[in-house]
Amino acid sequence: MTAGTNFFNYCPSCSSTNFEYNNNFKFYCYDCDFVLYHNIAATVALVFTFDNKILFTVRNVDPDKGKLDLPGGFIDPNETAEEAACREIAEELGLKIKPSDLKYITTSPNNYLYKNVAYRTLDIFYECRLTNDAITINAKDEIQQLVWLKRDAIDLDAIGFISIRKVIQDHYLIN
Ligand SMILES: [Zn+2]
Repeated sequence: MTAGTNFFNYCPSCSSTNFEYNNNFKFYCYDCDFVLYHNIAATVALVFTFDNKILFTVRNVDPDKGKLDLPGGFIDPNETAEEAACREIAEELGLKIKPSDLKYITTSPNNYLYKNVAYRTLDIFYECRLTNDAITINAKDEIQQLVWLKRDAIDLDAIGFISIRKVIQDHYLIN
């Protein structure tokens, strides 16, 4: 058992404490044979670009409250990644975009600790070019602030999630 990831105290099926939960991934109960996979979750992240600038959000919720993030979120069951991207952008920014506006960039794994449960995600990155930088916050509970940063003025340490830091560094940074 990895420290900090033991959020099961008992088997959810038979209440036994005789189980293994290796690598925060596969739960197995030796007493009743119950198996539960804590699979990775898929998310989308959007890189909005305008001129030489990239749009970042400032998170208003943990994990990484106060750190820079990209707009996006978890993909719902039965949703495509592109549908999730358009839905999240409408929810967070009140902006209507279409799947054809999205250019696939890459994927990057992340860790997401929420209320002491460690989720592992695979973040799917899309770029969306905008024709102006007039964007407002729709979901003020989730987003404190929007900031447009020039590609030569991005501080990687201000970015919360390792997946986003990596993709910005590999694909967008100009030094
Ligand atoms: Zn059991």
